[in-house]
Amino acid sequence: MDIVIAGGSVSAFEAAAAARRTAPEARIAVYSAESVPPYRRPALPGLICAAEADAEKILIRPRDFYGKNAIELHLGTRLETVDPAKKTAVFSGGAAVSYDRLVVAVGGRAFVPDLPGAKGGNVFSLRNFDDLVSIRAKLAAGARTAVVVGGGILGLEAVDALLKCGIGVTLLEQADRLLSRNISPEDSLMMMRALEEIKNFRLVCRAETREVTGKGVVLADGTLISGDLVLFSTGSRPAIDGFLPQLPRERGLLVDDRMRTGVEDIFACGDCVQFGGKVCGLYAISRAMAAVAGVNAAGGGTVYMPKADAIMLNTLGFRMSNDGKVTKK
Ligand SMILES: Cc1cc2nc3c(=O)[nH]c(=O)nc-3n(C[C@H](O)[C@H](O)[C@H](O)COP(=O)(O)OP(=O)(O)OC[C@H]3O[C@@H](n4cnc5c(N)ncnc54)[C@H](O)[C@@H]3O)c2cc1C
Repeated sequence: MDIVIAGGSVSAFEAAAAARRTAPEARIAVYSAESVPPYRRPALPGLICAAEADAEKILIRPRDFYGKNAIELHLGTRLETVDPAKKTAVFSGGAAVSYDRLVVAVGGRAFVPDLPGAKGGNVFSLRNFDDLVSIRAKLAAGARTAVVVGGGILGLEAVDALLKCGIGVTLLEQADRLLSRNISPEDSLMMMRALEEIKNFRLVCRAETREVTGKGVVLADGTLISGDLVLFSTGSRPAIDGFLPQLPRERGLLVDDRMRTGVEDIFACGDCVQFGGKVCGLYAISRAMAAVAGVNAAGGGTVYMPKADAIMLNTLGFRMSNDGKVTKK
């Protein structure tokens, strides 16, 4: 049996590992758009100001895991099209690969609002390893100030990482308080007061961004928030725009509880899917979905049992407990 997996992160890794456990004889091949083997994406902010951006430190498994488990890993190779009738997947470079089962685990992409200047050379997002390398290059080139747009959990982690690099950071949040969808107004206020004490840091709430220029971000009222580097942390979207149009979709690729897409022998999992009305965007949930996709693609029979969305806050000296209460460490 030929199992082909498209993706380069936790979902692709977990689907491959689960397929291997289920079908010891199957040929399993992972095709990843990335230049490094699957890594723990949540570890990226921690590498912003590390001495070096050492990918080996954040790999989910060492490079030799794939060879030892007879999993082919093709890096720098993007799935482009699929012909479900011929059961062929076409990858960048034109290679057409036959499959018995295909797992689509292409995840998410950073969402950056369509503002004037948002494609400028001083604008970044942090979704993948190449983004990390670009941000580090900008810092190495002498950036001394940064504007982070978006005060969600990932935005706060980015602020923490940039402050550790010793640069001045302004955080722009559209709402009138931080983490308004995640924590109580009281906890938000406590956090905002504590953040005011941090040197080199400024929080601007009710910030409507109008455009990005070479000097920073211009707000709707014309105020310029200066920054050599502008980092958008404004969410992610399933990386499925214009991609595999045969697969039923809403906001993400639609899957059932076996991670089947509705097109025969094509499974999907992780941040690229919508299950139970939701696109989840969380690591543990992607991993659990991928284990189900891998087992079923390899001929097993298992179903995904939805997990609670466990959001984690552990940054800038704050921690969130299981009951959603924020405390200062
Ligand atoms: C900075 C950051 C911090 C995070 N922190 C947390 C956290 O603390 N806790 C938490 O629960 N979640 C966190 N997340 C979210 C979590 O990382 C994701 O939910 C998880 O990585 C999803 O895994 P995935 O494999 O489905 O998709 P992704 O991680 O998005 O990986 C998709 C992979 O597929 C590759 N790909 C894309 N298109 C193609 C193609 N056409 N062909 C081949 N390969 C392709 C991509 O290059 C990528 O490697 C964080 C995310 C980011 C960006």
